[in-house]
Amino acid sequence: MLSDDKKIRDVVIVGGGPAGLTAGMYSARARMDAILLESFSVMGQATMTDLIENYPGVERSTGFDLVAGFKKQAESFGLQTSQHTVTGVSAMTEQGKRIFEVRTETGEFRALSVIVATGASPKKLEVRGEKDLLGKGVSYCATCDGPFFKGKEVVVVGGGDTAVEEALYLTRFADKVTIIHRRDRLRSVGILQERAASSDKIDFAWDSVVEEIEGKDLVSGVALRNVKTGDISHIACGGVFVFVGWNPNTGFLGDLVALEKGGSIKVDRAMGSSLEGLFACGDCTSKVLHQVVTAAGDGATAAFSSQKYVEEIKGMAYGQIEV
Ligand SMILES: Cc1cc2nc3c(=O)[nH]c(=O)nc-3n(C[C@H](O)[C@H](O)[C@H](O)COP(=O)(O)OP(=O)(O)OC[C@H]3O[C@@H](n4cnc5c(N)ncnc54)[C@H](O)[C@@H]3O)c2cc1C
Repeated sequence: MLSDDKKIRDVVIVGGGPAGLTAGMYSARARMDAILLESFSVMGQATMTDLIENYPGVERSTGFDLVAGFKKQAESFGLQTSQHTVTGVSAMTEQGKRIFEVRTETGEFRALSVIVATGASPKKLEVRGEKDLLGKGVSYCATCDGPFFKGKEVVVVGGGDTAVEEALYLTRFADKVTIIHRRDRLRSVGILQERAASSDKIDFAWDSVVEEIEGKDLVSGVALRNVKTGDISHIACGGVFVFVGWNPNTGFLGDLVALEKGGSIKVDRAMGSSLEGLFACGDCTSKVLHQVVTAAGDGATAAFSSQKYVEEIKGMAYGQIEV
């Protein structure tokens, strides 16, 4: 492995979504020696949506533009960002101080503190046809793939905010969108339920789960099982959009820190993990509400905590650093 510079920074931030970029902005304003590493192979969730209308102060924005604004603002305060996919993190002691080593495919970065903000990736349905037809009608991103389904019929699997929001977005292109949900009512917030119910392009398949995604070279339909009756039915469609939850992107941490059962990082109120000096924020942590606004809040707290931790290690009283 090529070695990056041996310099020991104050903090390495892993992830360039709302959580990481907010942590980066706060760290840069605190004049921490910080670098943010972002992967171009793992897509940030915020960039997957075409409409964000619940980030305070921003009436409507695409996710891409909102995150671009976060980045521009963080960099305007001097945050250094670099494209790297992080493959591992380890901690060691040198001259009585804990040093973190953050490894990437091409080099490594050393720091007194790490903030993990790697978000989450879409959960799969794990049914027959899903893997083989990925990119041939199976998608986890309406913003990316929606325009390919102009004039077609598609299904959306899921019943939460993301599923309904993306179903509404897909009505711009598709002739008909069927929301397949395992329950008999949606889980999404009221305003989205109202919009879905009043759309003449949206239909619902209640109490149903996908048994199989059908098609040879392209998706041709889905087989559904009614969870109450066990009956099997079919819907002909050209696209299957899956929004059934997310898996936190934490595999690269191994057993360095305590994780919840589903893989999210256990954090305290200060965004501290089970390992002193390693903080985490946003959708890779265990939390109640996965949104841009909460990710940004978590990022601010993580940066503040990391700053306090680093200053303590360096033997500086908090407040001596220019903020
Ligand atoms: C389709 C969709 C619609 C949504 N709609 C809304 C909405 O309307 N309003 C709202 O508030 N929220 C919405 N959300 C949720 C919101 O996008 C997330 O809660 C938010 O983006 C979480 O921010 P984050 O920074 O924790 O993670 P992410 O935005 O997922 O960012 C993670 C970052 O980490 C990087 N990364 C991952 N692994 C690595 C690695 N190994 N090395 C380096 N970098 C890595 C990624 O490239 C990315 O930059 C939506 C999500 C989706 C998917």
